[in-house]
Order: sequence, then C-alpha cells, then structure tokens
Amino acid sequence: MTDQYDVVVIGAGPAGYVCAIKAAQLGLSVACVERTRDEGGALRLGGTCLNVGCIPSKALLDSSQKYRETVSSLAAHGIHVEGVTLDVPAMIRRKDEIVKTLNRGVATLFKANGVTAIAGSGRVLAERRVEVRTPDGDRRMLEAGNVVIASGSRPIEIPVAPVDNEMILDSTGALALTEVPKRLGIIGAGVIGLELGSVWGRLGAEVVLLEAMDEFLAILDQQVAAETHKILTRQGLDIRLGCRVTGATVTGRGRSRRVEVTWQDREGQEHAEKFDKLIVCVGRRPNTEDLLAPDSGVALDERGFIYVDEHCATNAPGVWAIGDVVRGPMLAHKGMEEGVMVAERIAGHPAQVNYDVIPSVIYTHPEVASVGKTEEQLRQSGEPYRVGIFPFAASGRALAADDAQGFVKLLAHAETDRLLGCHVVGPAAAELVQQAAIAMEFGATAEDLALMVFAHPTYSEALHEAALAVHGAAIHVPNRRR
Ligand code: FAD
Ligand code: NAD
Repeated sequence: MTDQYDVVVIGAGPAGYVCAIKAAQLGLSVACVERTRDEGGALRLGGTCLNVGCIPSKALLDSSQKYRETVSSLAAHGIHVEGVTLDVPAMIRRKDEIVKTLNRGVATLFKANGVTAIAGSGRVLAERRVEVRTPDGDRRMLEAGNVVIASGSRPIEIPVAPVDNEMILDSTGALALTEVPKRLGIIGAGVIGLELGSVWGRLGAEVVLLEAMDEFLAILDQQVAAETHKILTRQGLDIRLGCRVTGATVTGRGRSRRVEVTWQDREGQEHAEKFDKLIVCVGRRPNTEDLLAPDSGVALDERGFIYVDEHCATNAPGVWAIGDVVRGPMLAHKGMEEGVMVAERIAGHPAQVNYDVIPSVIYTHPEVASVGKTEEQLRQSGEPYRVGIFPFAASGRALAADDAQGFVKLLAHAETDRLLGCHVVGPAAAELVQQAAIAMEFGATAEDLALMVFAHPTYSEALHEAALAVHGAAIHVPNRRR
C-alpha cells in the first residue's frame, strides 16, 4: 500500500518536527517519520535536542549550578546552609521527567496540527518516494509532493577511545550518570566538553579536558575565548590544550575499574592518567547511513553532509534537507528556522534564513554567547571596524548579584557604524547577545543602541555601555577607543 502526502519529513528533531508543524499550519498534508522509540516502545519525538541534547543538558546545568551556589557562594550573601547533600539519581530523574513532558508536548502539537507521526526508519527513493521500515519489520511506501530530510547527527567516534557507555561515554551516556565520578576525563574541550565538564565539576568531580587544538574555542572571538578559559580554569576545570590522545583502556574490575588514557603533549611527550569515567565529545557527524537510495538524486558534499543550496533544496527536485544533516552550525534554532523556511517555500512563499545572524551560546556559568563576525574574522576580511567593550565588573546589577565576571564586546563597521558582531562572556550572555541579534536583524548601528534607554540596574546596561564605548563615550568605564 502507498500513502500519499504533500510533505513527508524524515526525522522528528527540532528541524523536522518544526518543519512538519509549519507545513501543516500552511494547509499541507504532512507525515513525519521517526525511528527512535523509548524503553516502552513508544515513539520518541524531539530528536537529539529534546532527548539527549539541549534540554537534558540544560536541566543538569541548572541543577548543578544550584548545588554549587548552595555550597560555595551563598555564604557571601550572609546565608549559611549546613548539611547539604546531593541526590544524583533524583537530579537525573528530574531531567528525565522534563524530557518526557516535552516529548508529550511535541506529540500533542502533532495531533493538534494534524501531522501524522509514523514509526520507522525512512529511506529516500527516486521520485519523492520514501520507504519506511517499521519497527515490526514491515515495509511501507510513502509518496510525497515534497520530501524533507531532517535526520540530524550523532557523536563522532574515535578509534583510540571506543565508547561503551559504561566507562567511556558519549554525551548521551554522560547525561545519565547516577554518581559523580571522582576523576572525570573529557576528550574535546568544545561546547559539550565544557557544558558537561561544568555539570560534573560543580557536583564535585575533578575534571580534566584533553583538547587537540592549541587554541581554546577556536571558533569564538579570541578575546572572549581567553577570558572564558581564565574563568573556567579558576572554577577548577583543568583544560589541557595541544593533546593528542593515543589510547584509552579500561583497567581493573568492579568498583576499581578505571580508564587509562594516554596522550602526547605539544612537545611530543607521552602522558598516561587514570580516570573513573571518560567522556568523548569531539564533534558530531551527519546521519546519512542507509538514508538515500542510489537513484534518489540527493548528493552529499565533500564533508559528508547532504548538499543543499541557501534555501535547503538538495540536488533532487522536491527533496529538501535541514538541520544538523546539512552545512552550517549544529544548533537546534538554526535547524528550526530552516524547517520553517522550507515549509514556507514548499507552500510557495519566498522565505529565507539569515545565516549571518545566528546566535550561539555555551551554557557554562557564566554563559558564553556570540552572534555575527568575530574580531579575527573582520581582521582577516579587511573590513574596517571599531570595538566597544564593557566589563561586568563595572555593572551595578552584576555586582549586586555577585556575578560580575566577563565583558560585553561589540564590533561595529568603522564607516557605517552598523553592528557586525556581539560577543559576551558573563551573566545573562545568551539574552544580551539575543538583543544584539535583534538589533543586527534591523540593521542597527552602534549609535542606535547607544541612543536607547536601558532600564537600570540591568545586565542589559552592559550592552548599552559597550555600544557607547564603540564611540569612546562609555560613562561607567574609562574609554579606550580602538
Ligand atoms: P536531531 O535532533 O538529531 O534529530 C534527528 C532525528 O531524526 C532523530 O530523532 C533521529 O532518530 C531521526 N532519524 C535519523 N535518521 C532517520 C531515519 N532514516 N528515519 C527516521 N528517523 C530518522 N543545540 C542548541 O542550539 N542549543 C543547545 O543548548 C544544545 N545543546 C546540546 C547538548 C548536547 C549534549 C548535544 C548532543 C547537542 C546539543 N545541541 C544544542 C545541538 C542540537 O541538539 C542539534 O543541533 C539539534 O538537535 C539538531 O536538530 P535536527 O532536527 O537537525 O537533528
Ligand atoms: P565541538 O566541535 O564543539 O568540540 C569538539 C572539540 O573536540 C573541538 O575543540 C575539537 O578541536 C576537539 N577534538 C576533536 N578531535 C579531538 C581529538 N581526537 N582529541 C582531542 N580533542 C579533539 O563539538 P562537541 O562539543 O562534540 O559538540 C557537537 C556539536 O553540538 C557542536 O557543533 C555544537 O554546535 C552542538 N552543541 C551545541 C550546544 C549549545 O548550543 N550550547 C551544546 C552542545 C552541543
């Protein structure tokens, strides 16, 4: 039997489920194929983000931050707490409940919008047909006016540290630990390494991050990266750069099991160290295995992602691809916006995504967030720019909150004054960068921000002062114009 839909979406992560809902809202008949099921066999909607990514990691980041503040920073406020205990299984259960609530939320939204969820693994055939292998082994054929591939990504595995999710964990395993490892090794000091390292470090683990690159957070503005390195190191994260991991072996038995990791430092010197657990988080790769029939007409790019144009159209007419499986940052909100754009374009509307203004956030404490060009990128492109910086140490709100590390950095075009980038490490960095993103979307200048009234006392005033500083006119810090 062949079922027909206007749109068949493969994958119910943030890119796929948003695309499916939007397409249904635009009056199209939509099916969304998803292969993941929970322990009870029920379809698990929401993809990496909702089940093993953004949401569970943020739940644990919030819980662990509350614990850290309770044990180490409340005293500064004159609050003394005794007998604080930690119940890690309860923390994990709370996280799992949040995930379940949101899983149900996506299912409810599908129902409310008339999206048909189909359990199984989808494969794109020629002529916009999708073959679904259902959980009971049957094959079902779907015919679509348009097919949207949103199959997402999964962790990159490295042969020197094979993941068993008992001793050597990927990010999914690291979100499910039920006790705090005494010593935690992490391969890769990227976004996941820093977020999950923060979680377990705050709860008491001694955390060592082994990073291959000599530069810390190479894609960030390097002034922000350097400040972030300083702050996180002060918090106790032992970040070692220029490490080439050569092996990871599980030794011992029972409770004395350890992972012995060997690596070479920048000078080529060999090191070996034992950890109670090891997390491998060295990036993610697109899910394309067994997804495309040879005659589907869909091509991959040189890095193994599905090749798409700026509107997410693949080489095959009527077949689109969005989210982590295509080029661009692997971020949930980037995938969601692509999902909306594709649904709109299928419905005949001229939608697009502004790839120049996609904010990104690392949810450490303090947060690290950025949007637009970094100073290094501007220097390289030769675009003339000015910099405005405001440190949170000069913010009344940040000092009142005992949260005054870091700074806001704004970059504006030296001639037109248009905002080109905003990079923040500090309290509420994600929200401040979002304000800059809004301003950038409207083509604002540094002067536009500088002329606005900001409520006092707020963290947002740091953005205002950074905009003033672009023109050497900051009020609450001495101006150093450049
Ligand atoms: P996915 O979320 O990976 O979803 C793809 C779905 O497709 C999956 O459900 C999969 O089962 C299904 N699928 C794959 N192949 C098939 C097939 N053949 N048939 C049927 N179904 C299929 N991003 C942020 O923006 N903010 C964050 O704070 C953040 N935190 C993260 C924390 C962690 C620990 C991780 C791992 C990631 C985090 N991310 C974060 C990244 C974010 O999760 C991804 O960018 C996002 O989930 C990508 O969405 P997607 O829909 O493209 O793919
Ligand atoms: P990442 O690219 O952020 O970091 C991986 C790090 O591992 C890099 O610094 C890289 O140099 C290093 N590395 C690679 N190979 C190595 C090796 N053999 N030995 C040592 N270090 C090595 O990737 P990630 O942290 O795995 O995260 C994957 C993706 O998920 C990211 O692209 C990110 O966009 C997304 N994510 C986003 C958020 C967020 O938005 N807050 C949170 C988590 C994940």
